[in-house]
Amino acid sequence: MKKSNYGPKKSDQKKANNHQESRVSNFSNERKKDYAKVNGGVFLYTKPLSVGDLSKAINVPSSEIIKFLFLEGKMVTINQLLDDDMIGEVCLQFGYDFKKEEVEDKTHFETLKIEDDPASLKERPPVVTIMGHVDHGKTTLIDSIRSSRIVDTEAGAITQEIGAYQKEVDGKKITFIDTPGHAAFTAMRARGASVTDIVILVVAADDGVMPQTIEAIDHAKAAGVPIIVAVNKIDAPGAKPQKVLEQLMAHDVIAEEYGGDVMTVEISAKKGINIDALLEMIALKAEMLELKANPSRYAMGTVLEAELDKGVGPKATLLVQNGTLNAGDYVVVGETYGKIRRMNNEHGAMLKSASPSTPVSVIGLNGVPSAGDRFMAFESEKEAREIADARALEKQNAARSGTAAMSLSDLNNLIKAAKVQDVNVMVKADTDGTAQALKTNLEKMSTEEVKIHVLSASAGAISDNDILLASASNAIIFGFNVRPDARVRTLAAEQKVEIHLHNIIYELLDEMEAALKGMAVVEKVEKIIGEAEIRHIWKMAHVGTIGGSYVRSGVIKAKSKVRLIRDGVVIYDGTLGSLKRYKDDASEVKEGYECGLTIAGYNDIKEGDIVECYALVEKED
Ligand code: GDP
Repeated sequence: MKKSNYGPKKSDQKKANNHQESRVSNFSNERKKDYAKVNGGVFLYTKPLSVGDLSKAINVPSSEIIKFLFLEGKMVTINQLLDDDMIGEVCLQFGYDFKKEEVEDKTHFETLKIEDDPASLKERPPVVTIMGHVDHGKTTLIDSIRSSRIVDTEAGAITQEIGAYQKEVDGKKITFIDTPGHAAFTAMRARGASVTDIVILVVAADDGVMPQTIEAIDHAKAAGVPIIVAVNKIDAPGAKPQKVLEQLMAHDVIAEEYGGDVMTVEISAKKGINIDALLEMIALKAEMLELKANPSRYAMGTVLEAELDKGVGPKATLLVQNGTLNAGDYVVVGETYGKIRRMNNEHGAMLKSASPSTPVSVIGLNGVPSAGDRFMAFESEKEAREIADARALEKQNAARSGTAAMSLSDLNNLIKAAKVQDVNVMVKADTDGTAQALKTNLEKMSTEEVKIHVLSASAGAISDNDILLASASNAIIFGFNVRPDARVRTLAAEQKVEIHLHNIIYELLDEMEAALKGMAVVEKVEKIIGEAEIRHIWKMAHVGTIGGSYVRSGVIKAKSKVRLIRDGVVIYDGTLGSLKRYKDDASEVKEGYECGLTIAGYNDIKEGDIVECYALVEKED
């Protein structure tokens, strides 16, 4: 080994033999600075370091490290993170032994791999969410279950204080999450939390499978949660329960009676018919799932809802998912912490402890967390405070340097680095036929290395819900002849969901193909210049249909390319005909102003349509 002027200080060398005793504590007050240090000539570190970090830690100028690595054939910059091999080479060169410490990083407790001794695992109640199309009877079913006659252990179980409750069936509990609908379910998953073990899909027998039924199926499947179908409203005139089961088959939800594995039950939520049968089915499914948790560890789980109560301060509904939560425990919740001062069940009764799958309302937190935040109980207040502080800091940093969740442009690199084996995509198109054709063709692109999963393919505008599902599943959205509105685009940007829009099928497929192969993705991209809403229509001989419009964002430019959008779907793609402010021709009209416009060669304009001006520009990287 080459001699160098830099090396362990004498005092460090003296301690060289007892370095094993000095574990890097992840919870000391200096925990943020303690990820790398020299101890007795041994350089201890816990995570990838930049040249700058390493330089400070081993007291060797960055320029020396960069020079050394350069001579070894590796070009690095001061802020570049070094891998373990490089750190090792540098340490040896400058006279240090080195060791990477594996520390249990409780800061990210949601990602800790918890291995419970099988002997300590106990059966836990299933957590159930009710989903389905609007008006199919979700709320009625929730009410009906709550008041169903099955023995309720709680005396006078009428008032309910929190958005989840437990029901007892044959001596075993079932936990119901009260917020029906997939928005809450997916918003939660988008934040990395999965609380649901079983989804009850409510389908009205007099209405059949509807768009939100299909969405709910997509959401449950994406989350890998089993479905039980409750065919509701069997008392209603025109109820065709069998037809519902047939329709569901087209969406790969195959009832047991058709040879599949999906349990189904015909109910009337309103009349209370077969509610007990549904509950027993849930209990049976839960038994098959063998749901278990370890009640003897510190509690961890998820926030279901939270608010600031004027009287008692921050108040949160927590679902305990593993361990036991005790009154008096110190907990980190999201980026805040506190001591559980009081813990209630859904009937307002005070609890001393809450076992796995129990929903509880707690007070004593120092801040209001968000639904979907994870929580964990810790041994001491100090530990809880330090972890909460570290999480708050990380959240601030992440907000500053947000990175894209899944991006077509670096897909090939991720595949090469074997970081991605599955690519999730969603398809929204102007017609269902096109959506299905795109799904088939995209799925055909799967190779041995990478599988393309089309989570959903349907007709209609790209909605908030699509963005949340994409975000939760790290998916890319392809839109064909559909346009997300400004609000959906903003949500997509916030959630870091990529939307790729096309109006020629082969171009869409080419783009995916190119991304998989790591070829340059289409150079030209569309840039939306402005959006106007059509508010009045009038017709003029020789001119055609004129749209009296209000410019909602950006500018509308004369002669530019335009699309006419109705309910989020592209109706026509062409160029702007004339553009006028009052009686005069205008070259452009800005946001907040009104104008009259025509679309060249196209007259089917309606009130409420959106005219979107766009340009093709070079792609910026
Ligand atoms: P949600 O939008 O899915 O929560 O649906 P609701 O629970 O609000 O129910 C929508 C409508 O369907 C209400 O008027 C209910 O009274 C009615 N409804 C719900 N369940 C049944 C049922 O089993 N039979 C009949 N006939 N009507 C029902």
